[in-house]
Amino acid sequence: MAEAVIRHDWTRDEVSALFALPFNELMYRAHSVHREHHDPNAVQVSTLLSIKTGGCPEDCAYCPQAARYDTGVQAQKLMSVDAVLERAKAAKAAGASRFCMGAAWRSPKDRDVVKVAEIVSAVKGLGLETCATLGMLSDTQAQSLKAAGLDYYNHNLDTAPEFYGEVIHTRQYQDRLDTLEHVRAAGMKTCCGGIVGMGESRDQRAGLLQTLANLPEHPQSVPINQLVQVEGTPLAGTEALDPFEFVRTIAVARLLMPASMVRLSAGRQQMDDAVQALCFFAGANSIFYGEKLLTTGNPDVEQDRALFRRLDLHPLEIVEADNTVHADILENETASASCGQGCGCSAAA
Ligand code: SF4
Repeated sequence: MAEAVIRHDWTRDEVSALFALPFNELMYRAHSVHREHHDPNAVQVSTLLSIKTGGCPEDCAYCPQAARYDTGVQAQKLMSVDAVLERAKAAKAAGASRFCMGAAWRSPKDRDVVKVAEIVSAVKGLGLETCATLGMLSDTQAQSLKAAGLDYYNHNLDTAPEFYGEVIHTRQYQDRLDTLEHVRAAGMKTCCGGIVGMGESRDQRAGLLQTLANLPEHPQSVPINQLVQVEGTPLAGTEALDPFEFVRTIAVARLLMPASMVRLSAGRQQMDDAVQALCFFAGANSIFYGEKLLTTGNPDVEQDRALFRRLDLHPLEIVEADNTVHADILENETASASCGQGCGCSAAA
């Protein structure tokens, strides 16, 4: 099989043709490309801390953090520097190499950016890599966060351009692309993906992946979320996506963005182990824990560890210049109120 070429000129027809391959053929191709670029048995393990939860003015139809939907989420203000730092220190002590923070904002005010920059700088001072998801950013806000030491910024496209208006009415697709441009221009790495199972067609799933792959740079991380249906949101009750269609989406993402980390994010807790195993084979190599990572006895965490053992997977390790080795684990406790959709501005990317 010819070596995968990094491309940014995918047509919709080409991407749709990949989706339409016989399942085994698609899996074979995706896994072959995966092996060219990644250790097939290593999985990056991440979680993130919700530093500001709920009360969002946007109307994203999947999101329990939108203030307009009655979902039982209690809004919480931005955490203090000290409170975040305490969590970051615990993460470092537990072996984390990167610390990710999410806030449910449409876009932060400049005064919010000043506070987050202070938090980022303090976390960075611990020797941790930093990432954040705060909503739309202006060019100057992106530059301020970069100057404070922010390494990664998460901002998802959510879905295909032509389906976006079915899901969100309070901002435009172009706003998302503009934020990504500001983040890249400021010199930060991007984490960008979307959500499937929102009632979109296969062609629209292809449209999401085509748009991601045709960005000027492939995002370093590509979270592929499956809709978590939350009572009280407009998308509750949407027909569930066939799990094999989700696996196909992972496989096509791997084929289009060979060198990126493809992340199983929201919705993983609803997948059975066999589907997750297929996703890993198709090219997924990053996961988010849905609950507290470092709390022993947590059922979700124990189940994940057991799955890793059964599949002979191991956490991706990072070797630092001083030869310190960390498992690539992002400390966290995703607040129970977090969106869980990986919206790019909410608390789960
Ligand atoms: S997905 Fe993000 S922008 Fe949309 S309502 Fe939720 S927190 Fe707000």
